[in-house]
Amino acid sequence: MALLVQKFGGTSVGSIERIEAVAERVIQTRQLGHKVVVVLSAMSGETNRLLGLAKQIDEVPTPRELDVLLTAGEQVSIALLAMALNKRGFNAVSMTADQVTIRTDNAFNNANIISIDTDKLESQLDQGKIVVVAGFQGRDSDNNITTLGRGGSDTTAVAVAGALKADECQIFTDVDGVYTTDPRIVPAALRLPEIHFDHMQTMAACGAKVLQLQSVEYAQMHQVPLRVLSSFEDGEGTLVTFNTQYSSQVVGIAVQRSQALIEIAQSMDALQQQLELFGLRFWMVANTAQSAQIVVAIDDLPRLRLVFDNKMRHISDVATLSMVGDNVMTVTDAVTTALNNTNIQVHHNKQITDCVSLLIDETDHQVAMETIHRDFVNSQEILGNPSLLAVS
Ligand code: ASP
Ligand code: MG
Repeated sequence: MALLVQKFGGTSVGSIERIEAVAERVIQTRQLGHKVVVVLSAMSGETNRLLGLAKQIDEVPTPRELDVLLTAGEQVSIALLAMALNKRGFNAVSMTADQVTIRTDNAFNNANIISIDTDKLESQLDQGKIVVVAGFQGRDSDNNITTLGRGGSDTTAVAVAGALKADECQIFTDVDGVYTTDPRIVPAALRLPEIHFDHMQTMAACGAKVLQLQSVEYAQMHQVPLRVLSSFEDGEGTLVTFNTQYSSQVVGIAVQRSQALIEIAQSMDALQQQLELFGLRFWMVANTAQSAQIVVAIDDLPRLRLVFDNKMRHISDVATLSMVGDNVMTVTDAVTTALNNTNIQVHHNKQITDCVSLLIDETDHQVAMETIHRDFVNSQEILGNPSLLAVS
């Protein structure tokens, strides 16, 4: 008998029919004799809907109150799934972060898990129950409600799996694994049967949405076996592992869209401090004594406007493409040439050990991803390696 943590994302619980299907999927695992803890996201679109309500009141809502609001979505989905399981004759109980005792720091909207008390979870499991935990939420030391950042249910799942020493943390989603790039943008993208933790971490840091960055870092640190699977089809998915035989100069291409190139009339030192204080992610592309050009998420512009007002100029909408792989730096020039040949200009590039990021116009992202994928991702290795195919 194994102990499994199964996490289902928003699309997997996006309607009553899908919640019923998740109940069936969980029951399959339970009937194999395993103990199951389920972690859920809110029904798809619900977190955005709640965020939209908040923004109708205040473009930059009070962080504490935003967390009180946004956690409502997961409370709905866990109750509905527990009902669906109970109706089928399986004893299930839903639990919020408070009921489990998931402690975080007090960084509202982007909190970090500090500890998870396993006593209450274990006592429910020992009574033979399926436990359905609300993802994305925690409580700080003053018992305020906190959230773990967008996509944070992945982190709840991995942290619960780590605390319980589960045999595997299974992330069920609307794609059947981790792909070489986003298959919704590049249909030729291929599922990776395995991916190294380091590459997965870099992909997540560079915008791959399939797993939240924090969840990968946590799994890596606590050695939680992690697998990404489809909620809708059977299959082995992608195993995130320290041990993989697959290698390619470019293992994957992550894209970050909806980014803005902006100029702020302020010296870099002061600006850097302010941006870090905000906890805001940015890419510095140029700076002079009087001003700096940076890339930020379009969603962060209202917050920045509050502070910098008319010192700030929105230059253009851009996207960043990040190629991930052990020796990826060696292909930077060849990639830039290949993109220039398709009339795509690379405005800047940034290289760190296993990642090269390119700044391009937002409108070029699809052709650029297709070009790099076609010319630099070693599809033959994925399709032609029998040991890799054996697990697919
Ligand atoms: N419901 C939250 C979000 O939409 C958390 C999650 O889905 O993981 O970001
Ligand atoms: Mg997600």
